[in-house]
Amino acid sequence: SETVERHEFGAEVGRLLDLVVHALYSDREIFLRELVANAADAMDRRRFEALTSAASALPPDAKVRIAPDKTARTLTVSDAGIGMTREDLAQNLGTIARSGTRAFSQTLESARAEDRPSLIGQFGVGFYSAFMVADRVTVTSRRAGAEEAWTWASEGQGSYTLERAERPEPGTDIVLHLKADADEYLEPYRLDHLVRKWADFITVPIAIVQDGRDEAANQGTALWRKPRSEVTPEQYEAFYRSVGMNFDKPWATLHWRAEGQLEFSALLFVPGMKPFQALENERQSKVRLHVRRMFITDEAELLPPWLRFVQGVVDTEDLPLNVSREMLQSTPALARIRRAVTGRVLSELATRAKDGAEYQSFWENFGPVLKEGIYEDHERREEIAPLLRFRSSAVEGWTSLPDYVARMKDGQEAIYYLVADDAEALGSSPQLEGFRARGLEVLLLSDHVDAFWPEALARFADKPLQSVTQGGLDLSKFPAAGEAEAAPAGIDVLVAAIKAALGSDVADVRTTDRLVDSAVVLSAGSGPDLQMQRLLRRAGR
Ligand code: ADP
Repeated sequence: SETVERHEFGAEVGRLLDLVVHALYSDREIFLRELVANAADAMDRRRFEALTSAASALPPDAKVRIAPDKTARTLTVSDAGIGMTREDLAQNLGTIARSGTRAFSQTLESARAEDRPSLIGQFGVGFYSAFMVADRVTVTSRRAGAEEAWTWASEGQGSYTLERAERPEPGTDIVLHLKADADEYLEPYRLDHLVRKWADFITVPIAIVQDGRDEAANQGTALWRKPRSEVTPEQYEAFYRSVGMNFDKPWATLHWRAEGQLEFSALLFVPGMKPFQALENERQSKVRLHVRRMFITDEAELLPPWLRFVQGVVDTEDLPLNVSREMLQSTPALARIRRAVTGRVLSELATRAKDGAEYQSFWENFGPVLKEGIYEDHERREEIAPLLRFRSSAVEGWTSLPDYVARMKDGQEAIYYLVADDAEALGSSPQLEGFRARGLEVLLLSDHVDAFWPEALARFADKPLQSVTQGGLDLSKFPAAGEAEAAPAGIDVLVAAIKAALGSDVADVRTTDRLVDSAVVLSAGSGPDLQMQRLLRRAGR
């Protein structure tokens, strides 16, 4: 009819659909997790909006309903959530806003088969997984506070339609017209199993509609509120999987209750694997804030950005249920909770750091993020520094600042380090020759953040950190193996000639005791270290 508007998907969406449907086919049951998570999210968002807008108030019996219809061969997921306007439908379901297809497909190709399902959630493309089981999907939605409803419909083949619809209440219905081989998703027992598997910890009630009646499907257990002794390892793991769309096992599980001046329960995880979506994109901690079990927001920044790899939940009695976004910024209780939670995570890391092999896997996943804390968080600097690990010119594997200090030579006053773009270049750098020859250890740094933090830390155990590319280093008090007795005759003439040839391109040309085999080396003078200068140049400064 004339009122049906047809739209082409953004080019990206078409390819993405193809990818999702084919690459994840063997795990296609996760479509239900994705749709239920979106529905529960939409209800949380509506409840939060209702704090400041009465028009968004959630009905008291609001729930997510999963309704199979064997005759029509449809499966409908309905929610009483925030809903979507016509523009929202076109924007959220017709384009890919947050991450491009290319990044997704590249990661997908390199990921192990068993890791693929978690990619969908991490890349924010969960809705499209509906097309793994459906050959047609219609979404009818009414935004809370709006009068009109709209239906979005697509066969997942390059275009979608939009038309006006009727919906008596705000919320969203997603109707999946199931493919011929997807009959299993019409069986209530199968749906029930999936909800228990994927959505048991969602605190919004979820019901499966069976013979016209709602059967509660999730327990909505606030696992974090139970005493540790009552939670099994399997439950922790299941919760971990549901909270961060994870498929690995957590590297650390922290579960505690604070009582006294501050009252909160926390259940936090350090993942066992690095998320595929680089941690660079997302700078904020996504730890979820609950107040008396109710989900409030995942934007309360309960942990600092340099602990953003930690996932989980903090649930407190010390905030009112109707806490608004503005209040969150300024409430002292939240600041105290942040401080307590950050301290607890750091002390867990310190304990686990005693086991070198175990800590190594953590370090390789999240070390570069933790290092940001050195220059971002003055107060925590001293606590973070001993947790850092390094490659070194003197030992195999990883080492730490305390270990370096313990190995320092008699008379050595500084902790030497060298920063370069890649680890390969580090080992063979001529900058190291003089140090090697004198048996002086140099820490080798090649992470992106390494150009920044050593200067911020400045000292460890009272020893200054010293970049080996900075000039003015006097190594003469340490005798070097194979060192020439005195500077060869005529060296002054050579230095003068080089200086004349280079003119104003260099500040100075000097003889050095830092080299053994190489003839020349660039040195940073007294300004910033060489790697820092490279970065500044790249940034156009
Ligand atoms: P993600 O949920 O990771 O952002 P999706 O592809 O699953 O990615 O969903 C895209 C967007 O569509 C969501 O961010 C949300 O804004 C919107 N959306 C999806 N389902 C619903 C729903 N049931 N109610 C309201 N909005 C929804």
